[in-house]
Amino acid sequence: MSHTTTHPARFQVIGPRDLDTLPALQRLSPATRAEMRRVARVLPFRTNRYVVDELIDWARVPDDPLFQLTFPQPDMLTPADRATLVRAEHAADPAALDAAVRAVRRRLNPHPAGQSSLNVPTLRGRPLPGLQHKYRETVLFFPAQGQTCHAYCTYCFRWPQFVETDAPRFASRETDDLIAYLRAHPDVSSVLITGGDPMIMRAEVLRRYVEPLLDADLPGLTSIRIGTKSVAYWPQRFVEDDDADDVARLFEQVVARGKTLALMAHYSHPRELSTPVARRALARILSTGAVVRCQAPVIRHVNDDPAVWRELWRTEVQLGAVPYYLFVARDTGARRYFEVPLARAWEIYRDALAAVSGLARTVRGPAMSATPGKVVVDGVAEILGERVFVLRLLQARDPAWVGRPFFARFDPAAAWLDQLRPAFGEPRFFFETSGADAPGGDVAGAPRRRALPVIQGAA
Ligand SMILES: *Cc1c(COP(=O)(O)O)cnc(C)c1O
Ligand code: SF4
Repeated sequence: MSHTTTHPARFQVIGPRDLDTLPALQRLSPATRAEMRRVARVLPFRTNRYVVDELIDWARVPDDPLFQLTFPQPDMLTPADRATLVRAEHAADPAALDAAVRAVRRRLNPHPAGQSSLNVPTLRGRPLPGLQHKYRETVLFFPAQGQTCHAYCTYCFRWPQFVETDAPRFASRETDDLIAYLRAHPDVSSVLITGGDPMIMRAEVLRRYVEPLLDADLPGLTSIRIGTKSVAYWPQRFVEDDDADDVARLFEQVVARGKTLALMAHYSHPRELSTPVARRALARILSTGAVVRCQAPVIRHVNDDPAVWRELWRTEVQLGAVPYYLFVARDTGARRYFEVPLARAWEIYRDALAAVSGLARTVRGPAMSATPGKVVVDGVAEILGERVFVLRLLQARDPAWVGRPFFARFDPAAAWLDQLRPAFGEPRFFFETSGADAPGGDVAGAPRRRALPVIQGAA
C-alpha cells in the first residue's frame, strides 16, 4: 500500500534571497525588511514553502510565533551591531562588509564553552569526532550527511555550523567506528542519531547508518533514537516523500529486531501539530512501532506562555506522543532576544504541568544542557531565610551526581547556570572540584573551544 497522495508536495527552500520577493513579506515596511536582510547576513536563515504557507499566520506577523521561530528579526542584533553593519553596507566594499559580519558573529558567542574536548570519545587513542559520549548510557552520533535542517530555528545553537563552511562538522561516515566504540563500551544502551537533522537524509542513506547497528549484535544496545524537527518543518517526510515508505520500513525493522526506535521530536508550538499532514506523519511513525518523545526549548516570542505548553503537551498525548523535555535555550546567537529567565521558565513549566493530566507529566524541565550535565530547575524555595533555586542533575558527566539536589541563590534575572551562585554562602557547587573553577563551574571557567553540538531541544 502506498501512502503517497496523488499530488505530493515538493520541498522548496526559502532563504535570504527570497526576503525581497516573498509576497507575504510585502506587508512589512521596507525598513523592516532591510533589517531582516541585515540580520540574515549574520545569522543563518532557511525555511521552506510548507512553513511559510501552512504554519505561519501572516495576519499576526511580525508577532506570530512561527514567524518568530523561523524568520530573522531586527532585534536579534543590538543597535550597535546593526549600526556597524549599516556603515559597512554603505562603504560598498564586500571585504569590509564581510569583516563586519564576522566581527558581529564573534560577539554572539558562537561556540559556547565546555563541550568539545570533554566529550569526544577515542578508540585506541584515535579521536572520533562524529561521536559524543558525555553520559554513560548514551552516545550521540552525528552522521556526516545529516548536518543541516529543513528549516533553521532562529535560536539554534548550531548556527555557526550553518554559516561557517570551514567549521568542524562533527560528522562521521564511520558507522564502523561507532560500532567498534559500542563494543568497547557495553554500558551504552542508547545511540542518539542527531545533526542538524538526520531526517534530511534519504532513507537509503539513513539505512546505511542504522542497519549495521542492528546487524552488529550489540545486546546492550536497547534503543536507537533519532533527533528531528522534520515532524514539524517537513512532515511530508513520513507520508509523501517518494521514500517515505522506506523510512517507515526502516523503523519497523528496528522494532522487529527488538530495539526501541525513539523519534525525539522537536515541537516548539502546538500549531506545528495542527495541520492534517503533521498528524498523518505522527500517526504513520507510531504505526511502525516507534515511540515519539517530544522536546523543545522555551523561547521568548515563541512559546514563553504556559497556555502554549499546556496545549502542546495535551495535543502530543492525544496523538500518542510523549512529552519529554522542556529546555532552556543555550547562551549563544540571538540569546538576548529569546532569553527567558530561569525563574520565569520554571513558572511556565509548573503552570502548564498543573493544567495537564498525569499522562503529560512525563515532561521534565526547565533543563539546561550545561557542562556538568542536564540541570533541571525544580523550583524556588525559602530555606533558612534565604530564597533559593532548588536544582538537580537529570544527567551528569559523573553518574554519582545524578539526582542530587543542590541550591543556588535566587536571582530573578539569571538565565543560565553560569549566572547562578551557590546558596548558603557555599564557595562552589558540589560538582565544581576546585577553587579554580569559577562559580557556575567550568561552564564559565573553561577556555573557549570549538563547540561540539549538544542536544538541546534540537534535532
Ligand atoms: C540530553 C543528552 C543526552 C540524552 O539524555 P537523555 O536524558 O537520555 O535523553 C545525551 N547526551 C547529551 C550530551 C545530552 O545533552
Ligand atoms: S534547533 Fe535543531 S532543527 Fe532547529 S535549526 Fe537547530 S539543529 Fe535544526
